[in-house]
Amino acid sequence: MKWGDDMNELDYFLSDKMNEECGVFGVINVKNAAEVMYYGLHALQHRGQEGCGIVSTDHEDFYMLKGEGLVTEVFTEAALKSTPGTAAIGHVRYSTSGGGGIANVQPFLFRHHTGDFGLCHNGNIVNSHEIRNYLEMQGSIFQSTSDTEIFAHLIKKDTQTNRTQAIKHALNQIEGAFAFLALSIDKLYIMRDKNSLRPLSLGRLNGGYVVASETCALEAVGATFVRDIEPAEILILHQDGSITSDRYAAKTYPNMCAMEYIYFSRPDSDIEGVNVHASRKEMGRILFEEAPVDADVVVFVPDSSTSAALGYSEASGIPLEMGLIKNRYVGRTFIQPSQELREKGVKMKLSPVRSLVKDKRVVLVDDSIVRGTTSKKIIQLLRQSGAKEVHMRIAAPPITHPCFYGVDTSTYEELISAHHSVEDVRAMIDADSLQFLSIDGVLKAVGRKKMCISCFTGTYPTYTYKNLEDANKDGKF
Ligand code: SF4
Repeated sequence: MKWGDDMNELDYFLSDKMNEECGVFGVINVKNAAEVMYYGLHALQHRGQEGCGIVSTDHEDFYMLKGEGLVTEVFTEAALKSTPGTAAIGHVRYSTSGGGGIANVQPFLFRHHTGDFGLCHNGNIVNSHEIRNYLEMQGSIFQSTSDTEIFAHLIKKDTQTNRTQAIKHALNQIEGAFAFLALSIDKLYIMRDKNSLRPLSLGRLNGGYVVASETCALEAVGATFVRDIEPAEILILHQDGSITSDRYAAKTYPNMCAMEYIYFSRPDSDIEGVNVHASRKEMGRILFEEAPVDADVVVFVPDSSTSAALGYSEASGIPLEMGLIKNRYVGRTFIQPSQELREKGVKMKLSPVRSLVKDKRVVLVDDSIVRGTTSKKIIQLLRQSGAKEVHMRIAAPPITHPCFYGVDTSTYEELISAHHSVEDVRAMIDADSLQFLSIDGVLKAVGRKKMCISCFTGTYPTYTYKNLEDANKDGKF
């Protein structure tokens, strides 16, 4: 997220995390699909808060509702009545790549003489710049800067073959991380990239099906988990209840994003059969094995590091305490930045519990350090509250490279670990000690040999950009 684009300095200062860009949810053959969508997208709200939308069909026509804001703000009871039908696709958006604004809120509804369709996706197409140029040279005109529109043009450009073949052809031209949902008048198409970088799971509900970026959304609507969508799979759910599965590529390269386990996904979600809370707890346990410290109390930074801190505490025998309280009701702040207000801003969001940390040696467990600004402030708050020592332990390796797969990592220049050693970072955030979990520790905790760990290594599983400058020009991180 860039300061000045859509946030003031204080928000920027406090938003020292990687941010997921989007979640998708689909429904077919379920009564009142829009209502189910409401609960599904609400459970995925952590994946994007900037905008949301739905395209539904009653198998005669399409209906669309979208807006900027949270699911509860856009999908009011009255508004949802405008999207009838038994099939729908929906989306929650966190924007940077592709830009913000209502024009980029998904799903998109495309009108075409060969058949109208709705389309939305989660992830990022890394060769979108080249494809957009190519399509524009062929006469395509775009209404948004979203990758979704590019994919729609690619599908409809192929008028010689049937729809599934056209989709396959289009998928073979795009590179990157994606989970696409397309809704025609009588079918729901579900597509996942050949690297399966983003999660996508299928569930059964009242004789129909639902599909979601995370299993927590299946739970939220009362669906039963069926299976994950396979890498390179095109799963087609028909209105008559039949199912067709196809592949757009014979070779697949499963590379689930490690950050889904570390930070993005909700702890109650299972990703490819592994529970997120359990894997985070294991990361905390391994973190203690790799980086023990003599201390009196383990404190977590709420909320995403709770599980890892629990693991660290259990493994070390050091009691876990709620040394920091998060105020859940702090929204966007629009006050002018100043040093004094920055201090207040942090305190508004996180408040130390003096009686729990005073005169204590604190192990502060967090899930990541991006720019280091918030870590420094939290350590300062703990010291002001009387903590004798603050030892920071991060349940992830240092983030040294940007992500090109639909995650906002801040710019390369801003990533503190890209330019500084662990010892330098320790000094900059003023911790008594600082240690990160190893890459092997992450893999071991999740129980996998292979995952996308590119933001820790700089080696990417797909074609990306010739250099970071090109990517920057393209607004890709
Ligand atoms: S680069 Fe990092 S954040 Fe991006 S997909 Fe890979 S592991 Fe996830």
